[in-house]
Amino acid sequence: MSADYQVHADVAVITLNNPPVNGMGYDTRLAIVKGVEQAVADSKVKAIVITGHGKAFSGGADIREFGTPKAIQEPNLLSVIALMENCSKPVVAALHTLVMGGGLELALGCHYRIASPGTSVALPEVKLGLIPGAGGTQRLPRALGVEPALNMIVSGEAIKSEMLASLPGQKLFDQMAQSPQSLMDEALTFAREIADVRPLPKVRDLPCKHPQGDAYFQFARNMVKGMAKDYPAPPKAVDAVEAATKKPFAEGMAFERENFINLMWTPECRALRHLFGAQRAASKIPDVPSDTPVRDIKQVAIIGAGTMGGGIAMNFLNAGIAVKLLETKQEALDRGVATIKKNYEDRIKKGKLKEDAYAKRMALLSTTLRYDDISQADLVIEAVFEDIGVKEAVFKQLDAVMKPGAILASNTSTLDVNKIAHFTKRPHDVVGMHFFSPANVMKLLEVVRGKETAKDVLATVMDVAKKIKKIAVVSGVCDGFIGNRMIEQYGRQAGFLLDEGCTPAQVDRAAEKFGWAMGPFRMSDLAGNDIGWAIRKRRYQEQPHMRYSKTADLLCEQGRFGQKTGAGWYDYKPGKRDAIPNKDVEAMIAEHRKNIGITPRKITDEEIVQRLVFSLINEAAHILEEGIASKASDIDMVYISGYGFPIYRGGPMNYADQLGLFNVVQAMHRFAANPHDDAAFWKPAPLLAKLAAEGKTFN
Ligand code: NAD
Repeated sequence: MSADYQVHADVAVITLNNPPVNGMGYDTRLAIVKGVEQAVADSKVKAIVITGHGKAFSGGADIREFGTPKAIQEPNLLSVIALMENCSKPVVAALHTLVMGGGLELALGCHYRIASPGTSVALPEVKLGLIPGAGGTQRLPRALGVEPALNMIVSGEAIKSEMLASLPGQKLFDQMAQSPQSLMDEALTFAREIADVRPLPKVRDLPCKHPQGDAYFQFARNMVKGMAKDYPAPPKAVDAVEAATKKPFAEGMAFERENFINLMWTPECRALRHLFGAQRAASKIPDVPSDTPVRDIKQVAIIGAGTMGGGIAMNFLNAGIAVKLLETKQEALDRGVATIKKNYEDRIKKGKLKEDAYAKRMALLSTTLRYDDISQADLVIEAVFEDIGVKEAVFKQLDAVMKPGAILASNTSTLDVNKIAHFTKRPHDVVGMHFFSPANVMKLLEVVRGKETAKDVLATVMDVAKKIKKIAVVSGVCDGFIGNRMIEQYGRQAGFLLDEGCTPAQVDRAAEKFGWAMGPFRMSDLAGNDIGWAIRKRRYQEQPHMRYSKTADLLCEQGRFGQKTGAGWYDYKPGKRDAIPNKDVEAMIAEHRKNIGITPRKITDEEIVQRLVFSLINEAAHILEEGIASKASDIDMVYISGYGFPIYRGGPMNYADQLGLFNVVQAMHRFAANPHDDAAFWKPAPLLAKLAAEGKTFN
């Protein structure tokens, strides 16, 4: 049973009981129906209260049923809601903590609603590429008013119950409870008070109009078009809410249903649902059981207060975890702390942080020049210069002073974590924590698992990542880990495209039209072209046969390092981020092209995008095959959360799956035949070739 049934004198109470958030799975739906039938049949019962156990009234659909026949098996959610709405005895929803999606739609089908303060209320379906499908778009505008309902449906964001209760004329809540603790008593009292009132009020019978009518919906459509770009769901949500104002209720419901089902089959919706699952799957490591005990992390030390150290520190301070920064010189500490302060003060100026929260965070921060002062930290994160000698000295020191059981992490982007682990006598306590810049903003954290990293160290770091609100993905040890190893191939393709006839702006435009947050050249200008330059110098010394375009080196030789020098692939005006194409750079590319004997050709946007994206896919297939990533969806998470890959395409692996791996492989064969590209690279990775031949997918 996924709901409990009890009778309190003359009121029946149905309590949803499907942890963790009382998802509306088949068993729960069935239990609600049984509860209602039992209450109707019991002559002692005059009213029904429906509520949820534990941490939610209901979080909506049961994600475990996504895509399975159970999700729509009768009684489906629409039938359950109809049963409540048509019940001969009054049904009161007692709402608390979390009321989302199908949970809110169920509540809207009840005759009355009482909510406790602090309840998060949302229709988040747009985040999965959908619109609400069980009456949300028809009943919420009637209960709340057209504008606030439309805003909630189009944004998918949660709003607190007290805020909703304060809206003039709202009929969403009939009463606000004094507190979460008193909710049930107040709901029982309320149910007794209204037990004999007839006719039973129904949200569907409420009027639904907007005074500006068509003009308002036109405005809403324009607004949504600007915000939602290529996402198909938000404009459909506007259509559905408009239908609520223009069509009779039953027709509005049919309209909503039709749009809901059509959206369900769009590639965007499938991609977003894939990512929803991928994010949850990322925290699961195949050979690390979910009940692995985690170490207690109360004190964090960070070595190096530079660009990364400061940003990493802020993550922990924001989460209420004490941080001690260690540097070799007081000036470096002062600089690091000043940057942290400036970042917080900027947030205060923008109204995103309160003074008292700032003070609390700064109170958790301390600094030192002595290793003895950090010996009791539970987790140390090293973020010193990217130099193996410097790392060696730091890890030897840490090994000497840190208490047993402390986790020793490195933020290295390119060095061998196994080698670093062996600078200590406790390699099982060593792990990579590869944050992305700016570390206080970027969501992605690659957790680099060394050969000897202990399972409880991994479990602890994954747990810590959640506390500091990062999306953590485990990577094995290899050059570049998952993300940077793939982006290197993408960068190489971008270079070849210049050699063959493109301008940086043409490549960026095509990539951005595909949906990337930034094309490869704008991204490189932001990150700093010198970083790639340093990597190439090392890489091509080690692998002199690897082909690449020399244009980026020529650019760096001119000191055009990107935004930080005001000039890179593009020009930048002081204080501005707009990329302005530069004729000299284009001439330099043309000159280079001539020197290597290539006659430029016109390259289509389709070819640009395919070469960029398929290079990621081929490298990713090698990464999967080598076990560097344990599942394809982890690679998708890396690219969505760390590299600006378009979310509605679900990550490179999901995109490849949707295109069909056969088609991807065929294109690779074509690219391999291009004399100016790297034929060896375009040989499909064995895993990709095998899956394509078998008609299978990555995910
Ligand atoms: P940075 O130069 O801004 O900061 C390094 C800091 O380490 C400096 O403040 C320096 O004084 C301090 N330091 C040097 N040697 C030290 C020692 N022995 N003990 C204590 N402090 C010492 O460099 P960064 O960009 O913050 O990079 C730090 C690490 O993070 C590197 O391993 C880098 O590869 C990695 N990383 C950087 C980025 C990025 O985009 N900058 C992204 C991911 C990872």
